[in-house]
Amino acid sequence: MGLVVQKYGGSSVADAEGIKRVAKRIVEAKQNGNQVVAVVSAMGDTTDELIDLAEQVSPMPAGRELDMLLTAGERISMALLAMAIKNLGHEAQSFTGSQAGVITDSVHNKARIIDVTPGRIRTSVDEGNIAIVAGFQGVSQDSKDITTLGRGGSDTTAVALAAALDADVCEIYTDVDGVFTADPRVVKKARKIDWISFEDMLELAASGSKVLLHRCVEYARRYNIPIHVRSSFSGLQGTWVSSEPINQGDKQVEQALISGVAHDTSEAKITVVGVPDKPGEAAAIFRTIADAEINIDMVVQNVSAASTGLTDISFTLPKTEGRKAIDALEKNRAGIGFDSLRYDDQIGKISLVGAGMKTNPGVTADFFTALSDAGVNIELISTSEIRISVVTRKDDVPEAVRAVHTAFGLDSDSDEAVVYGGTGR
Ligand code: ASP
Ligand code: MG
Repeated sequence: MGLVVQKYGGSSVADAEGIKRVAKRIVEAKQNGNQVVAVVSAMGDTTDELIDLAEQVSPMPAGRELDMLLTAGERISMALLAMAIKNLGHEAQSFTGSQAGVITDSVHNKARIIDVTPGRIRTSVDEGNIAIVAGFQGVSQDSKDITTLGRGGSDTTAVALAAALDADVCEIYTDVDGVFTADPRVVKKARKIDWISFEDMLELAASGSKVLLHRCVEYARRYNIPIHVRSSFSGLQGTWVSSEPINQGDKQVEQALISGVAHDTSEAKITVVGVPDKPGEAAAIFRTIADAEINIDMVVQNVSAASTGLTDISFTLPKTEGRKAIDALEKNRAGIGFDSLRYDDQIGKISLVGAGMKTNPGVTADFFTALSDAGVNIELISTSEIRISVVTRKDDVPEAVRAVHTAFGLDSDSDEAVVYGGTGR
């Protein structure tokens, strides 16, 4: 008998029908002879609605209270799911993150899991129950307050529980059939990936692919927990994310040259104009940004115009941090010494990811050729061993993603990329 951890996202449990459908799937896994732990997200857009509500009563809700509020979303779905399973004649018990032993640090709204002590979950499944766990939440080790793990955190809950329970597999159920070579909402011809390595998946997640969260993949790699991403709306095999290629029936899956194209329109660009071209300037700028606890992504420095001895430095960062970064830089303007700041939130990032590019010359050239054929202008470039990213105008992103996808032969012959649910909100 195996132990399976399954996770169902908000779009899979968006309404009573969805909850009943998911309950049936969970019962099937149990009837196949497994112990089952199911992690569940809040129904549909509940989390967004709760955030909207909080902002109506307070422009800056206190982190502790916001966590208390948001965790209610997952409690609703876990209790309803347990009821639906019982209605099918099977035993189920629901547990909050805290009851399930998800211990975190005390950073409200984006807590990190520091330990999982799933004693109650183990006992519950050993007694024959299906255990339902509220995703996205835990309890702070120090303050004993309820915390949340950051948006989309239920995936991380599932992987962390799978690791702590030494599960055989962690199945992440979502509203698409797996991980695709591009976002199926943008590329109709996106192809489902059968297997992808943790490394390539980490790069895709870091580059804006939303199907799995970066933190969740990181956790899975650290504990070597294979993830199976699949749809709760179809019975198809999904995508396996693991360290080694898996065998699918008689089909040996190979490492692809290119895993996929990711895009991200959630970032903005700040340009610091008129920075003296001397040692210590970049340090002063990025120390200021770091002290404001802002993570940056790409950086470029232009060559200085010899006559002025001044240069411009641009960097990208999450749009949500834009205001904070501008304020921090303005406050240190005298100390750093620059002329002005430019803020641009009409940018987008396109990334090509694949371990094969390490050993295949010409990938970069083909990537740039595809963009230029599509008439897309490149503003910034950054690379890692297995990724090339460019920043373009935001409006160019869909066209650019499709062009690159086609150029690298990733288009599928059939329209298999079905989006079953979700508002993409
Ligand atoms: N309900 C939370 C969110 O919408 C957590 C999750 O869905 O994983 O972010
Ligand atoms: Mg959600």
